[in-house]
Amino acid sequence: MMPTVSPIGTRDPEAAKYFTTEDPEKLFEDLREIGHGSFGAVYYAREVTSKEIVAIKQMSYGGKKSLEKWQDIVREVKVLCNLKHRNTIHYRACYLTDHTAWLVMEYCLGSASDVVEVHKCALREEEISVICRDTLAALEYLHAMNYIHRDVKAGNILLTDNGIVKLADFGSASLSCPANSFVGTPYWMAPEVILAMDDGEYSGNSDIWSLGITCIELAEGKPPLFNMNAMAALYHIPQNEAPTLADPNWSAEFNSFVQTCLTKSPEDRPGAAVAMMHTFITMHAARSYDIIRDLITRTKAVVREMDKRNARKIKKFLMEEY
Ligand code: ATP
Ligand code: MG
Ligand code: MG
Repeated sequence: MMPTVSPIGTRDPEAAKYFTTEDPEKLFEDLREIGHGSFGAVYYAREVTSKEIVAIKQMSYGGKKSLEKWQDIVREVKVLCNLKHRNTIHYRACYLTDHTAWLVMEYCLGSASDVVEVHKCALREEEISVICRDTLAALEYLHAMNYIHRDVKAGNILLTDNGIVKLADFGSASLSCPANSFVGTPYWMAPEVILAMDDGEYSGNSDIWSLGITCIELAEGKPPLFNMNAMAALYHIPQNEAPTLADPNWSAEFNSFVQTCLTKSPEDRPGAAVAMMHTFITMHAARSYDIIRDLITRTKAVVREMDKRNARKIKKFLMEEY
């Protein structure tokens, strides 16, 4: 039988080159849901021939707004297939079935946000430092290619089993730099991105602001203003002073790094390369693998305990053990 290729795929010849025509249902087995969003769901899966574990993001483009959804998928795939960096998620292939695109990528254990959720408390400073360093390395690479990520937050920073931090979710990435459209997740958005609604442009260092907000998220469990609704937060971000860490016990280096990332004026905010030279980043860099591996071991241990007590399970970190 011919593989099912959706009419929208064949009607869009320019995009067709990004998609493999084989039937993915035959190529992957043991699909298990590990995440979801507005687009559909993300699955853990095994490639039938190689037995390799992969992650599959299934994105629907059927129903309402099907053309818009299709354009978003093509945009994400176009960005992702161009990236080759230690700290960006590796792309494998993309397939089409009826009304669904299957974006196949390397498998990660979970996001930095999942880790915070498992521990229900702040990460350690050295862990936050390494997560920031690897994310900055990814951002330096992206910005040099003239991309802006536009959705930097703990939920989009993934961890691999061997201790590498990967920036993921290029569904909001902009191909043009500077950009002027209103894209991102409200609480993490830089003031100039919010203000670009009315006028103006912004560039890659809006991602550095979002990383500063991510630091607070990793240290406190939630970004600032999270108790407000998104519209109110969008009003307050440009109006308020830049947020800071609430607990006075964090080190001077960490406070200074957060303050640097959360410089309100984008012209005065450092770019990724300069931010990477901050003491908070350099002081833990030599031990980065060990720090993230320890974090993963610590996280798996907590998840294992949860399972024993039959508590609400966050099994994703132990997928290989089930
Ligand atoms: P939405 O646009 O609705 O916010 P999304 O674009 O954020 O969805 P992703 O961030 O790409 O979707 O994926 C959603 C979740 O799925 C992630 O937060 C993560 O937990 C999980 N996930 C995504 N990619 C992978 C991967 N390669 N390995 C493991 N888990 C992943
Ligand atoms: Mg996401
Ligand atoms: Mg997204």
